[in-house]
Amino acid sequence: MGKEISSNYSLDTKCQLLDRDLADKWGAISFPIYQSATFAHHGVGGSTGYDYTRMQNPTRQQLESVVADLENGIDALAYSSGMAAVANVMELFRPGDHIIIDEDLYGGSIRLFDEINAKNGIEFTVVDLSREDITQYIKDNTKAVYLETPTNPMMNVTDLEKLAKATRTAGLILIVDNTFLSPYFQNPLDLGADIVIHSGTKFLGGHHDTIGGFVVVKDEKLDERLRFIYKTVGAGLSPFDSWLILRGIRTLSVRLERAQENARALAEYLKGKEHVTRVIYPGLPEHPGHEIMKKQARGFGAMLTFEVDSAEFAKRILDNVELIYFAESLGGTETLITYPITQTHAEVPSELLKKNGITDRVLRLSVGIEGIEDLKNEFDRVFALAD
Ligand SMILES: *Cc1c(COP(=O)(O)O)cnc(C)c1O
Repeated sequence: MGKEISSNYSLDTKCQLLDRDLADKWGAISFPIYQSATFAHHGVGGSTGYDYTRMQNPTRQQLESVVADLENGIDALAYSSGMAAVANVMELFRPGDHIIIDEDLYGGSIRLFDEINAKNGIEFTVVDLSREDITQYIKDNTKAVYLETPTNPMMNVTDLEKLAKATRTAGLILIVDNTFLSPYFQNPLDLGADIVIHSGTKFLGGHHDTIGGFVVVKDEKLDERLRFIYKTVGAGLSPFDSWLILRGIRTLSVRLERAQENARALAEYLKGKEHVTRVIYPGLPEHPGHEIMKKQARGFGAMLTFEVDSAEFAKRILDNVELIYFAESLGGTETLITYPITQTHAEVPSELLKKNGITDRVLRLSVGIEGIEDLKNEFDRVFALAD
């Protein structure tokens, strides 16, 4: 189906070539949307390889092979959302299992662990994986370690190779949510992770127009188990949404390069502004995770968090942005500003918020691909309202 791609091609070129069906009899350059729930058999035992879309669909499979390739995995599974991807991975575990999770995670993942998985008997220990060694937290029933790096929204960076050494020694599954950097900038499987998760809604889709999620693996046994859960639970991505994400991936490299350039420039700009008390961007040399990022990633991404001197001013910024949208989510071509305390992290326990420094003065930016001068002018205008 999809074209065999030479591994010598750069990521930029691969993104153009992968989305192709050489067998398409009309020579379509865009992979077709197979909007079919079921597939006919050519007689008994004559399946085309596609039986029923909950299990397999050609458009979705094309997307899955693209994402698997970008993450250097043997298989990728496409889900109806990032949360569906996380929830399906959690079905690998049973009551009594223990999982070590990082303390700074996407709010929806924390809610899933606390409200759904804990009720089903899975035990969690929250650890700051960017600073602490996991060895002391491993118990007889520990099965996995789950994290994001850099984290949302505080941009803590964990050394993945070092952590992978520890999980491998202890026989634990290392699960990395790679949404913030996308496979364009970081490949956790190459650094020793066993499972990579993505919210495809973000950089992979790239246009704030669809919801999707991925799980990528490099081990056949794990893949088999996840495929079984996949067809049984039924949270597969629809053919049309699969096509939208295929289309998004074609411009992954140019979008991310430009967004990163803007993020770096905005980080420098915000550092010099009165009323800004802290700028957290791993691309800044003073960021504590800067050197680790240089070692394990190909870039620093387009997410940055900053803190202002009062909650009042933070709210005034949110009330007065015009070019920038005040919205949750990230990874699209437009710049979004998010207020973690009332949006993405609204249901995170207050002690955890406090410990992580997520206060009512913290704002998060998903930097888009607009003209950088327009973005700076927007902030100049909004900052003038502080006085
Ligand atoms: C958005 C997000 C998710 C959840 O993905 P959805 O597509 O919204 O379900 C998980 N992890 C991270 C880091 C995210 O940003």
